[in-house]
Amino acid sequence: MTIALTAARIFDGKSDRIEEGGILLVEGERIVATGANLQIPSHSEVIDFGDSTLCPGFIDAHTHLTFAAESYDQRLINRFRKHQAEKAYQAALNARVTLEGGFTTVRDVGCLEQRSFIDVSLRNAIAQGLVSGPRMLVAINSIGATGGHTDRNGGLRFEATGGELDYRDGIADSPADLRKAVRFNVRYGADLIKFCASGGVMSFHDEVDVPQLTPEEMAALVDEAHRLRKKVAVHCHGDQAAREAIEAGVDSVEHGSFLRDETLEIMKAKGVYLVPTLLVGQELARRLEGMPPHVSDKARRAIEAAAMMTGRAIEVGVKIGLGTDAGACQHGNNAREMALLVRAGMSPVAALKTATSVNADLLGVSEKLGTLEEGRLADVVAMPGDPTEEITATEHIFFVMKEGRIIKHGRRPQGASMN
Ligand SMILES: [Zn+2]
Repeated sequence: MTIALTAARIFDGKSDRIEEGGILLVEGERIVATGANLQIPSHSEVIDFGDSTLCPGFIDAHTHLTFAAESYDQRLINRFRKHQAEKAYQAALNARVTLEGGFTTVRDVGCLEQRSFIDVSLRNAIAQGLVSGPRMLVAINSIGATGGHTDRNGGLRFEATGGELDYRDGIADSPADLRKAVRFNVRYGADLIKFCASGGVMSFHDEVDVPQLTPEEMAALVDEAHRLRKKVAVHCHGDQAAREAIEAGVDSVEHGSFLRDETLEIMKAKGVYLVPTLLVGQELARRLEGMPPHVSDKARRAIEAAAMMTGRAIEVGVKIGLGTDAGACQHGNNAREMALLVRAGMSPVAALKTATSVNADLLGVSEKLGTLEEGRLADVVAMPGDPTEEITATEHIFFVMKEGRIIKHGRRPQGASMN
């Protein structure tokens, strides 16, 4: 059975413009042909979207489907109150709303429910068709130092924590231990390695921009990950830590709030990706009152710096992937990141590419995903109107196909206003 999707426009995920008049033929799980003047086979099921744009299924390179976007205090309470299975059901809902928002693939960069493997289980359940959600690449533990961004004992009384964390929780403090933390994650099914080179915003006990691992520790971690053919994403706000992590050979820098121009130039020269995660900043800016004062201070500083840094990164020409930090902000609104990138100075087509072909390259899945081309998996979304005229069209996805299966088929929203 062939499905023919037709619309007024088609964006293939990699061109510099959107084509007028689009037909996409899907058979089974794959795209078999695409173009404006195709002959539609007579036995096809034809779905015509009219004044809409077809686009490859979106990819988010920075999610945490296992987190609920809660207030600072609520998250702390739930950490001790909720059972792991309850958190897994919540994660399944997060996965579904992410897919329905047009994101057919996510790179999930750390599960805070340490030793639960909820991210691995969710990835496998989705792949088996038990749960509706995007295909996932998972990191398991986000690796970092004792007292670092991912040390969950920070800010708690020692006796309340159940003891010191170790490599099984992603906490490691020497080159040898960092190798062990990488090997542990890979043994339990990690698709990539994520670590924290600098402090973070929502961690109670650290400064947002201080380096938290030595160059020797990072070199060991990255070497081990690359030997095992896993890419490495680094959480980093501070400039010094980013420089050292880039020197160690990371594949992408996440957040990057305080990156200086010289560092952006090095990233461009080395082909290191930046994933700015502007959406989480926008949402946290509305929730500052509920945070401890020194945490809200960190948030304010990082958000302000990140807006400027992203504009500079666009000017310098650093490769930019789309990531939202969903989990630290609400799930399902991931497409809003594109409007924020456009506001920071990116063209609408470039913003669409961050979520499609660029992220497919970053994740190492461009043979299968990220473009609408013959032979690729049929991950397709439809949005009303023309996103080059109004980028917020991406926030109104009304049709989602994943691997040739129709996940969502709503009515195209009518009218011009899409805010
Ligand atoms: Zn994150």
